[in-house]
Amino acid sequence: MQQTIEKADEEWKKDLTSEQYRVLRKKETESPFSGNLYHNKEKGVYACAGCGQELFSSDTKFDSGTGWPSFLDAIAADRVRLLPDNSYSMQRTEVVCARCGGHLGHVFDDGPKPTGKRYCINSVSLDFRKAAGEEKTGD
Ligand code: FE
Repeated sequence: MQQTIEKADEEWKKDLTSEQYRVLRKKETESPFSGNLYHNKEKGVYACAGCGQELFSSDTKFDSGTGWPSFLDAIAADRVRLLPDNSYSMQRTEVVCARCGGHLGHVFDDGPKPTGKRYCINSVSLDFRKAAGEEKTGD
């Protein structure tokens, strides 16, 4: 999938919060356990905070103990792009949004079955959309 959203740096700065900008556009990492979605167990979909593309499903979210939301896989392979990242003297695989190029996190090979993958994603890069029908009805 071709990246379809191209914005000037100044536009991103305007459209994102400063923390979203630092992570999504400058590839910084939020502090572990700081994100508001780490403990989220609600059913729904996690979309890119930069462009709104749906990236991960709550069905594949698991508690990795790392302090960052972790997923077994993306909703579809073409939603993300995987890029080699050799920064900080580590060999890692960066995960970016295929649509806007925003930095999401990294993927590791130490995840649980069935994929064995651990998509380690910054909360701040994600926008949670609760599944319909999960709303509490007044009692
Ligand atoms: Fe995006």
